[in-house]
Order: sequence, then structure tokens, then C-alpha cells
Amino acid sequence: MSEYDFDLFIIGGGSGGVRAGRMAAGFGARVAVAEERYMGGTCVNVGCVPKKLFSYAAHFAEDFEDCAGFGWQVGARSFDWQTLVRNKNTEIERLNGIYQRLLDNAGATVIRGHAELRDAHTVAVGDKTYTSERILVATGGWPFVPEFPGSEHAITSNEAFFLDELPERVVVVGGGYIAVEFAGIFNGLGCQTSQLYRGSLFLRGFDDDARTFLADEMQKKGIDLRFDTDVSAIEKSDNGYRLQLTDGTSFECDLVMYATGRKPLSDKVGLETCGIETNAQGAIVVDENYQTNVPSIYALGDVTDRINLTPVALAEGMALVWHLYRDAGKPVDYEYIPSAVFSQPNLASVGYTEAQAREKFGDVTIFRSGFTPLKHTLSRNAEKTLMKLVVDTASDRVVGVHMVGPDAGESVQGLAIALKAGATKALFDRTIGIHPTSAEEWVTMREPV
Ligand code: NDP
Repeated sequence: MSEYDFDLFIIGGGSGGVRAGRMAAGFGARVAVAEERYMGGTCVNVGCVPKKLFSYAAHFAEDFEDCAGFGWQVGARSFDWQTLVRNKNTEIERLNGIYQRLLDNAGATVIRGHAELRDAHTVAVGDKTYTSERILVATGGWPFVPEFPGSEHAITSNEAFFLDELPERVVVVGGGYIAVEFAGIFNGLGCQTSQLYRGSLFLRGFDDDARTFLADEMQKKGIDLRFDTDVSAIEKSDNGYRLQLTDGTSFECDLVMYATGRKPLSDKVGLETCGIETNAQGAIVVDENYQTNVPSIYALGDVTDRINLTPVALAEGMALVWHLYRDAGKPVDYEYIPSAVFSQPNLASVGYTEAQAREKFGDVTIFRSGFTPLKHTLSRNAEKTLMKLVVDTASDRVVGVHMVGPDAGESVQGLAIALKAGATKALFDRTIGIHPTSAEEWVTMREPV
């Protein structure tokens, strides 16, 4: 019997922590998972899941418009925000319960409360301390709002999921995943929506064609996109808030939501008591086996601030547990990780952008198709779809796939397998399409641009 209370003590019951806990307990380890907030972490409670539910809700506005061309008439429409929030909360509570049961059924001990490291093998939760052979820090991240006059008036995505009322005029600040997604949500739900971004085009790091295309589509849907500008101050006004912008202009709104990135949630875990190394942003530094500079302490997921996506944290949790308890290295392959921005319309991609591919491979061939999906011929919806392939000319391998259009993530997920398998453009060309779909375009683009 080990001298410790547990074999693995996990701080954080989010995607990575719960997956690691379940698996380790399934492999026979004595596991504890400490969680101070909500089971399932950001993704389940204030991230991926409720965001996608809100994104569906927002899209109905267009669906009602689209159906008329197909002969349908719907009566008077109204939207009730409280119903959406209430139903979303019910679903999230159901998922919280599932996460709890997954751990219980695997034999892990769930400890509710704020956990802090005391030494390399000891964790305190409230007035109790627990010892463990190994400790895993999987505390995730937290929204970051820069400090400026009036920044306290801004909310973040954390609060946006629980607003009492839907505001009339919303300003979303930032140009990443969350800002773009929430601009689409608020706009679809009927708010007068502006999105402000400090750079010249949002979604830095994504393919330039896809970024430009999405910006056009969002503007067509009525979102007031303002690039090359930032907020210098927010003042409370009689009717809401007055925003002073860096370009000298100002305007009023009822809600300001900041989505200017997230910071690793590493400052209240007691890292300093053990001398755990962090980088300038507060991310825990780990090696390829998720081990920190203190050999008994590990970290993974958003608190290590590498690729901050739920499926990556899940994969890291599984890789760590295989490494620790089966002595079988199943390292995470970080190449060709697909992702989707649940904007309106969606943007999804896997692999290299055109610019990255030019830098890495030199000679690249680009295939691009912009078209009106069949559904929009009768709906008369002005939305267009973009599909783009980036091919390394020398090897003929498809090294980048980018799409802006309905359910882009559904299409790109499958192509991610092809890219990981090293599929060539010739192989894409030999593949028969499914007609009539938008996705058949992936295998019918013949002329490079
Ligand atoms: P991102 O890091 O994606 O984007 C942050 C944005 O805020 C960037 O546009 C950045 O601008 C801007 N910004 C940063 N600091 C400031 C500042 N001081 N003033 C003004 N603007 C600023 O963060 P998000 O919060 O959108 O999302 C966090 C992470 O969560 C994502 O990176 C992603 O990994 C994950 N996520 C994934 C989702 C998905 O898979 N669908 C959905 C939501 C989140 P600049 O580009 O100029 O630096």
C-alpha cells in the first residue's frame, strides 16, 4: 500500500482533468478530482456547449426568412431570452451530473472546494489536506480583460451566458474565436451588434481568404464590424454605456462584452510553494510528458496555454494516463488539429494557411471555390460559401483546408483525417463526390487559382 492517500490528485474537473481522472481510476489508480466551481469546466458550463446552443438559437432568425422561398409561412415570431437561458441551464445541469457520475462510476473521489498545493505531494482543500504520489494541475483558463478607464463595466463570456435580459445594443471587443462567435449570436438574436478589433482583420492566424470572406458575410448579416480601432474608455451613461474609441469617435450601447483572450488559471493554485515554473503569461511549463519541473507534479490543458481546445485537453489527459499507468507512450500528435469558429456562418480549418504553407513548402498550389449553396437558390439568402485547398506542389499533398459556410466544422472534421493520412490532391480528385452537397466541392475543384 502506498504511503499516500491517493495515487493521482487532480486539481480541476474540466475536460482534461475529468478525462485523466476517469481513465486513471479505470486503470486501477486511486484518484481524487478537486473542483471548486462546476463539473465539466469551461467547455461544458461557459464555453463550447452553451455557446453552440446559443449559436443554434441565433440561426433560427435566418431559418425563418429562408423558409419562405420554399413555400412556408410562419406566423408572428418572437424570441424569449429567458426561455433560452433556462433551457440551456437545465441541459448544462444534466451534463454536470453526467460528469460527476462518470467519475463516481470509475471509482474516483470527487472533492468539492478550492485546492492548493502545499508541497510536491500535498494538496489542501479547505481545512483538509491530502497526500498523493502524483498531482495533476488542470485548472484551465479565465477570460482576460485589459485594464483601462471603465473596464470594470465590461462583461466577459462568463457572464454573457447568464444575462438577465438581452440588451438592445451590444459591443463585442476582440477578434478571436469568442468575439466572432458572440457577435454572431447577439446579432442573430436581434441585438444591434458591433464588433471592434484592434487589428486590420479579425481571426489572426486563420487563412486570409477565409478571414476576409467571413468578415464580408458577417457584414451582410448586419454586424457592424470596426477594425483598426479599440476602446480607450467606457463611461456609464443615462441610457447605458458610452464608449470612447481610440480613433476619437464614441458611441452608446447597452452592453460591452470583452473577448480579448484568456489567461491560464494558475495564480491561486499554490504553484509558488513548490517552485513550479511558469512562463511570462502564467502558463505552467511542462515537458512532452506533461511533467513540470517538480517531478511529481503534472499539468495539461489550458493552464499550459498551448493549443487551448477541449479535444486537445482530452487527448492530453489520455496520453498522460497511458504514460503513467500503462508505461505505453501514446503521445498527442499536435499536427493537423482541426478547429471551427461557430460564427454565422461557421469557419473551419485544418492544416496550414496559404501564407504559412508558402513559408514552409515554398511552392504551393491553391484551389478555391466561392459559391451560393443550393439551399440559398430558393431561400434567396445572400450568404455564400468559401472552400479552399492549399497543396504542397512538390509532393501534391493537401496541407491546408479552409471553409466558411454552414456546418463547416462537420465537413472539415472528415478532411482532417485525410490530411493526417497524407492525402494528395490526386487522391482528392479520384474521390467521388456526394451530389448535391457543398462538400462535393472538395473533390471537384480542378483549376488552381
Ligand atoms: P483568442 O486568443 O482567440 O483571441 C483574442 C483576441 O483578443 C484577439 O483578436 C486579440 O487580438 C485580442 N486582444 C488580446 N488582447 C487585447 C487587448 N489588450 N486589447 C484589445 N484586443 C486584445 O481568444 P478568445 O478569448 O477568443 O478565445 C480563447 C481561446 O479559447 C481561443 O484561442 C481558443 O483556443 C479557445 N476557443 C475555441 C473555440 C472553438 O474551438 N470554437 C471557441 C472559443 C474559444 P490580436 O489578434 O491582435 O492579438
